[in-house]
Amino acid sequence: MRNEALQAVTIPAQQLPVSHTPDVVVVGGGASGVAAAISASRSGADTLLIEQRGYMGGMGTAALVPAFCPYTDGEKPVIRGIGLELLEKMKHAAGDGFLNRYKDQLDWVPIDVETLKRVYDDAVLASGAKVLFHTVADQVLLEGERIDGLVISNKSGRSVVKAKLYIDASGDADLAALAGVPFHIGGDSGELQPGTMCYVVTGADRARFHQFLENTGEHPQLEGLVIEAQKNGDLPEGRKRISGMAWITDSVVGFNFGHIFGVDGTNAASLTSAAIEGRRLIDTQIRFLRQYVPGFEHIHLVHSGDQIGIRETRRIVGDYTLVVEDFLSMRTFEDDIARNSYYIDIHLANAGSTMTIKHLPKGESHGVPYRCMLPQGKSNLIVAGRSVSSDRPVQGSLRVMPNCFAMGEAAGTAAAMAAEADCGFREVPVRELQRKLIEQGAWLGGRPGEASPVPLAAVSAVTFDDECK
Ligand SMILES: Cc1cc2nc3c(=O)[nH]c(=O)nc-3n(C[C@H](O)[C@H](O)[C@H](O)COP(=O)(O)OP(=O)(O)OC[C@H]3O[C@@H](n4cnc5c(N)ncnc54)[C@H](O)[C@@H]3O)c2cc1C
Repeated sequence: MRNEALQAVTIPAQQLPVSHTPDVVVVGGGASGVAAAISASRSGADTLLIEQRGYMGGMGTAALVPAFCPYTDGEKPVIRGIGLELLEKMKHAAGDGFLNRYKDQLDWVPIDVETLKRVYDDAVLASGAKVLFHTVADQVLLEGERIDGLVISNKSGRSVVKAKLYIDASGDADLAALAGVPFHIGGDSGELQPGTMCYVVTGADRARFHQFLENTGEHPQLEGLVIEAQKNGDLPEGRKRISGMAWITDSVVGFNFGHIFGVDGTNAASLTSAAIEGRRLIDTQIRFLRQYVPGFEHIHLVHSGDQIGIRETRRIVGDYTLVVEDFLSMRTFEDDIARNSYYIDIHLANAGSTMTIKHLPKGESHGVPYRCMLPQGKSNLIVAGRSVSSDRPVQGSLRVMPNCFAMGEAAGTAAAMAAEADCGFREVPVRELQRKLIEQGAWLGGRPGEASPVPLAAVSAVTFDDECK
């Protein structure tokens, strides 16, 4: 988050007003922050969510990530609770056409961005949590192992939020980093997964497109056409497929297509150049789609992400670091607060390298321990979402939105328990936390043969099927 120093200046000490004194403050309104705020507030805590944009949703709205990754392990829903509730709310709020198409689907459900923003507004406010948009958390006040205050900046000026408990759902572990929590970033040589500037087009013809796939046997992710266009110089080298193509209506399609390499999501200059490069790439892709893809001849670009999509930045060092061996052995922990069945999905760090993908067997998952969210050395701070304590391969799996909902729900529930007991996160009785999560509808593994309370996903047969196969 630091800027390059040309020189240093000392700014005068400032007296700041304390503007909010909630029990729980959540920084970030992405999937993890939304679930955290709802669960904390429903569990009785006075809760404030702070978000730098004018809406919630994080990568799913600001970066236009076009679909939710699977909620199921291929046999049953693994992610339930608040995450599942929000998915169903979006389906119902998106209109009859959307609902009819995706009603029974839990895997790869497209995101109707404007509907999702409203669903998040309503759900968070209905929980009783308060929301402050257009506000950045940029400094923490420390008192030993405790965070004593959070400095926020917005149009009203700078002020301090004094909460009992702090939830870092910034996706980048901003709060943890400001508080001096140790973290890792990227791979051994600093390599990071690439970013993608996602976008939405209108004017597509779904029937014509499907007819083309049927007639030619072309791969649903258009491998043949992408390779041909790359050979002709009409697309840059890189991935040979369109990762995600999500049909929101019969004519409106969301794209997660191609990569921008070397983007550091914690560096403003890097985010800036990636945004510009991402928009240029979209221009090339639109020309490719119009020229090569039947059904896309008359498309019009409606919207690109407010920011480039960021897959990976900081991973905190927590009380436990979830590692690839835990993933592969489908390990269960005493303090599990969620289960994960999404595959390891590490996108190539440059145009010449390959993707790392590792699936668990159908019907299998591993546990996500509470300790992964507890940053070393801080007592009243918890981290939820893509920057929890894991090694890099596991981050490549845990990072997806359904998992972020589940981690957020656990963090929010734990925060409310800690607020009530006036203690830190490590004193929260984990059995009781697990009991509450299950009561709220979360699934923590259950007993063998346990019936699924919601219908199994009808696996999508449409062209969008994942972010990276
Ligand atoms: C291109 C791409 C494709 C993907 N494809 C899929 C997919 O198909 N399906 C899927 O489920 N997942 C997908 N993912 C992964 C997923 O979208 C993210 O990992 C997930 O959204 C992370 O959720 P989060 O809540 O941890 O963080 P985010 O979604 O990043 O939310 C963090 C929020 O915090 C706010 N914030 C950050 N810092 C501050 C601050 N200091 N002060 C105030 N507010 C702050 C941000 O504005 C943001 O709203 C994809 C990601 C990318 C980039």
